[in-house]
Amino acid sequence: MYTDLQLYIDGEWLNGASRKGEEVLNPATGKSLGTLPHATKADLDRALDAADKGFAVWRATSAYDRAKVLRKAADLVRERAEHIARVMVQEQGKPLAEARGEVITTADIIDWMAEEGRRAYGRIVPGRGKNVRQLVTQEPVGVVAAFTPWNFPTLTPVRKIAGALAAGCSLILKAAEETPGACVELVKCFDDAGVPKGVLNLVFGVPSDVSEHLIGSDIVRKISFTGSIPVGKHLAGLAAKGMKRATMELGGHSPVVVFGDADPEKTADTIAAFKFRNAGQVCISPTRFYVQDGVYDRFLSRFTEFANNIKLGDGLEQGTTMGPLANPRRLDAMEAIVQDTKSRGGKIVTGGKRHGNQGNFFEPTVITDVPDDSKIMTDEPFGPVAPIVRFKTFDEVVERANSLPYGLASYAFTTNTQTATMIGDALQSGMVGVNSVAISTPETPFGGIKESGYGQEGGIEGLEGYTNRKFISQG
Ligand code: NAD
Repeated sequence: MYTDLQLYIDGEWLNGASRKGEEVLNPATGKSLGTLPHATKADLDRALDAADKGFAVWRATSAYDRAKVLRKAADLVRERAEHIARVMVQEQGKPLAEARGEVITTADIIDWMAEEGRRAYGRIVPGRGKNVRQLVTQEPVGVVAAFTPWNFPTLTPVRKIAGALAAGCSLILKAAEETPGACVELVKCFDDAGVPKGVLNLVFGVPSDVSEHLIGSDIVRKISFTGSIPVGKHLAGLAAKGMKRATMELGGHSPVVVFGDADPEKTADTIAAFKFRNAGQVCISPTRFYVQDGVYDRFLSRFTEFANNIKLGDGLEQGTTMGPLANPRRLDAMEAIVQDTKSRGGKIVTGGKRHGNQGNFFEPTVITDVPDDSKIMTDEPFGPVAPIVRFKTFDEVVERANSLPYGLASYAFTTNTQTATMIGDALQSGMVGVNSVAISTPETPFGGIKESGYGQEGGIEGLEGYTNRKFISQG
């Protein structure tokens, strides 16, 4: 039912042998799913060498032929979607329907990047003199080192794999040690689709050891990281030492502004479903709810009803609408938030504690009456906890929404077109959903500003992250 956990280096699948490793646990049961081998230093050096050689082969392959291989990988992901989704649920916890959706989007991202990689257009700039030809071209940046977290075990890796490979780069991916199986299955699809050896490599290990080793190598020319702000800052520093390109997709603390002219019930249904998706462990999860006085009570009542109707359980069980948290660190973080809320006079309207006596379950939680400087209103919760507070005026809510160093996503709901335009312009974040939560698609740019990072994945901007511009002046 699960998968054989292996490393993939230079086109070869490598098992435990004499390598160190770690147990992968099912967050719904706490039981071991298998042992994940850690790459040794020699493995990492082999991956670097293979990626270097793989880059030479892949960049010499036409964009047309690269696209064919990538589309085949997308087809294989779709064919194997049910198995990959089930592997994902076991190691990550999310409900099966969510896992299936993630895997299908994973295939869609490969298709989109495969096609767009064929459109790496340049331009001709008229020269100043006779017989002068000035060309601007795009070239792949080279070997990429990518690091991905545990909340989207195939979606986040594929944004980096598909973007890099579509642009003609090779890649060494260190995926999350807590959720490695679905990514192993994803990489198998690329292997079986005929990606040449060395072009894609998958390693696991102690994150800080692996990242320092890879980023410190002269072979690596680009870093792509998704994860927390502190780790992102650390890796950005390592990249800067070698003047390497970097894309940083870091945390967020997304405000939701519900204006008094919005339909409170409809808005609550939409945003609560989005809030509790993946048990709130999503970087663009709505996390601070500012609701205008006139609709506050109705919004709170409907949102709380939604939270109370959630069925917590093993993601593989029929009817489950929210799974466990992915690891015990998240449980501790949720308890710290609840404790801080209580100590500041906040009210727990529903939830607020662990659930059951096995696995990492935490109840969907709604909080009110918390001050703006409390933990839940200032630190990214990354869990199923929703603070809902009041506001009076447009200017006041904009100031409060923009007051944090985060700038990944924000949301607003209103039926007034002018308010919709004004709030879309006023919110400081890389993505804003106005009467919409559809802010992450293969064809649109995804990324943050302020401490939420820099660079984008998705859209033409995502591909640009893997290309250098070259100017050729020919006299
Ligand atoms: P963490 O900061 O320890 O780790 C975050 C991720 O970075 C993990 O996948 C981890 O393996 C990796 N990592 C840690 N140190 C690294 C290093 N030196 N080099 C390379 N990779 C490294 O936190 P955590 O407990 O795993 O997650 C909690 C926090 O992480 C959340 O509160 C959230 O802010 C953030 N997070 C963000 C995303 C996202 O999609 N942006 C995803 C997962 C976690």
